[in-house]
Amino acid sequence: MGNRMRPLFSGVIPIIEDNHIHTTFSDGHDKPEDMIRAALAVGIRGICFTDHAREESDYVPIYLEEIRRLKKKYEDRNIKIGNGLEVKFIDKEGNIDFNLLWARELDSLIVSFHSFPMEVYQSQGQHEFKKTWFETLRGFIKKQLIIIKQENPKLKVILGHPFSMWLKLGLFPEHRDINKLITLANQASMGIEINVNPEHCLNHEYMQLIADQCFIISWGTDSHSYLELVNNSSRLIKAKQLCIRRF
Ligand SMILES: [Zn+2]
Ligand SMILES: [Zn+2]
Repeated sequence: MGNRMRPLFSGVIPIIEDNHIHTTFSDGHDKPEDMIRAALAVGIRGICFTDHAREESDYVPIYLEEIRRLKKKYEDRNIKIGNGLEVKFIDKEGNIDFNLLWARELDSLIVSFHSFPMEVYQSQGQHEFKKTWFETLRGFIKKQLIIIKQENPKLKVILGHPFSMWLKLGLFPEHRDINKLITLANQASMGIEINVNPEHCLNHEYMQLIADQCFIISWGTDSHSYLELVNNSSRLIKAKQLCIRRF
């Protein structure tokens, strides 16, 4: 029904960018260059590498160097290559597992809920969990985000796969939760990701809300191999076509 109200424009293929990619530098299966080749093969015009990092990850300088090398190598190939990382929240003050020294070298930083505050759900139930989830985000916006932006004002800071932890726990976000998140993000000039990976994907209604109302959106497949990137690229196109007003 929802699809009928917003018909696909079959002749229009949106320009696709994939801003959430993992490689062998963290838990991906393929090297950055393999991912670029796959992206070129399926017509992706922008790719941002966002390997998982922790504050003590010593691979990061070599990783950043490799992406810089690839940016140069592929500068004439009609693909924009970005340098990013994905990091996680660690407490309800909104601290993240991140080394501020990297901020200046990045184009994009994805901040995600990966483990915290899962234990709050287990010990205190869903009401406390939801409260803590938002409190964490507010804490991050109030302090860490400001510090990061001072370090690199151009850095795009994105909330990765919003609500995927909720869905994993069997909690479906309500309309007002989505609106609350969008308001918070817009006030802080923080981006929200539309993650099309089947593991993290929100329903179309919520994707649409984010696409329509968020000032900064980031599209990503969260692929961990070049095959996954190829398979998920059609999901990116479909999602963008559904959210037609914003590409
Ligand atoms: Zn993630
Ligand atoms: Zn990821």
